[in-house]
Amino acid sequence: MDNCIFCKIVRGEIPSKKVYEDANVFAFHDIHPAAPVHFMLVPKQHIDSLADVEDSHRNLLGEMMLLVPRLAKEQGCTDGFRTVINTGSVGGQEVYHLHVHIMGGGKRLPGMIPHPR
Ligand code: 5GP
Ligand code: ZN
Repeated sequence: MDNCIFCKIVRGEIPSKKVYEDANVFAFHDIHPAAPVHFMLVPKQHIDSLADVEDSHRNLLGEMMLLVPRLAKEQGCTDGFRTVINTGSVGGQEVYHLHVHIMGGGKRLPGMIPHPR
């Protein structure tokens, strides 16, 4: 995708602080971190959002989920972390290239979903 920011980051056309790369995925620090550790894991292949995944993405999504805890730990999230995938306009997605936010490394993050007691 020519004009996608994250495709440009994956191709190295926009600089980023790389966390990890392999044949299928790329991870880099968020430019506006919401926690002491805040990076994103993206597929190298352009997929608009989680609403657009298909059965053919099964292995890719599996690789991504298995990488999350490993990279989180390597980046210093020793006491847990939060994963967020904003999807579509209601989900508040700003960049339409599928990405998993991984945040942690500090104090307990504020609750997002109220838990009934
Ligand atoms: P979304 O709201 O789509 O889930 O999150 C997009 C994220 O991408 C935001 O947290 C934003 O700070 C980050 N972001 C946007 N542009 C860039 C960029 O050029 N470089 C990096 N590293 N992060 C970016
Ligand atoms: Zn893209």
